[in-house]
Amino acid sequence: MSIPATQKAMVVETVGGPVQYKEIPVPKPGPDEVLINIKYSGVCHTDLHAMNGDWPLPVKMPLVGGHEGAGVVVAKGELVNDIEIGDHAGIKWLNGSCMTCSFCRQTEEPLCPHAQLSGYTVDGTFQQYAIGKAAHVARLSKDISLEAVAPVLCAGITVFKALKESGARAGQWVAIVGAGGGLGSLALQYCKAMGIHAIGIDGGEDKRKMCMELGATAFVDFTVSKDVVADVKAATPDGFGPHGVIVLAVSEGPFQQASQYVRSRGTICCVGLPAGAYLKAPVFDTVVRMVRIQGSYVGNRQDTAEAIDFFARGLIKAPYKVVGLTELASVFDLMKANKIAGRMVVDTSR
Ligand code: NAD
Ligand code: ZN
Ligand code: ZN
Repeated sequence: MSIPATQKAMVVETVGGPVQYKEIPVPKPGPDEVLINIKYSGVCHTDLHAMNGDWPLPVKMPLVGGHEGAGVVVAKGELVNDIEIGDHAGIKWLNGSCMTCSFCRQTEEPLCPHAQLSGYTVDGTFQQYAIGKAAHVARLSKDISLEAVAPVLCAGITVFKALKESGARAGQWVAIVGAGGGLGSLALQYCKAMGIHAIGIDGGEDKRKMCMELGATAFVDFTVSKDVVADVKAATPDGFGPHGVIVLAVSEGPFQQASQYVRSRGTICCVGLPAGAYLKAPVFDTVVRMVRIQGSYVGNRQDTAEAIDFFARGLIKAPYKVVGLTELASVFDLMKANKIAGRMVVDTSR
């Protein structure tokens, strides 16, 4: 397979942006790495946080963002023997981890202190050729659509893991806060596939319609509801609230609100990462209602394989829209304004 010396990429030179279309060198894979010709990449809200330097974690600059990249393996290092050139593979947020620390040894790779993060500490998938550690790249069978699977590589894995972490079982109720966004739309589909009733919470008629089509049992519009807490509780049959809450929203308010409507003995699973935000919940209520508040961060290699397996079986169909890589800046603008229902995916060939 012929690999060019240079390629097109969207590059952020300084924290805060802008993101610019550039010609840059094609990287060479190290001994334990593969080079993937990225065909499509989903755009995650994390990419916007990275460009804006929202988090207390240093971000590489200049940066090629992106961590939902699906494509074809075009080169590999000499230590890679379980992936072949021509195989389909995906680059996810966790680009690599040390594989020897006590977290990696127990398959908690996202917690590895030496983890490399795609589109954050190493260049990601808003380019035509990207590198991933062979141990971590997602294995994709050739009959899977590369554009449709792209959002699964972060959004899908993350919400599937969060649902497992919440402990919610088939037949129980889970509130998805930010249900109309990229992670949320996939969360509704995983809930449906797992037999969990989902209460979608988001704003606007478009998102209501999409959420109900994706299988939500109920929808609460936070932009028009006079009492979100009462409405969420009322959506459950006994009025006691959902067993789990998956908080995906990118502002602090919903994290605090969740403690008021989660069911006693329920779990609030925090996933969204708003800049500078803090969790606040009443100690009295948390204690006497035995509420669990926890974080959930992407997934390990097994979660990745399982999340993709749901997709491969045809159980996960969330809406996405494909635009050219050159349009990334306008995708970020729409994202900032909460105007994307589902996911935007960029095609690296245009
Ligand atoms: P997105 O922009 O696609 O979706 C966010 C949604 O939240 C939007 O639909 C918006 O309308 C909705 N929203 C805003 N305020 C709300 C409110 N008060 N109540 C209910 N809904 C509200 O973003 P995304 O790509 O789905 O990412 C969501 C967050 O998850 C980001 O902060 C991202 O960085 C984070 N994330 C975390 C992990 C992890 O492993 N923990 C992984 C991926 C993304
Ligand atoms: Zn992401
Ligand atoms: Zn490690």
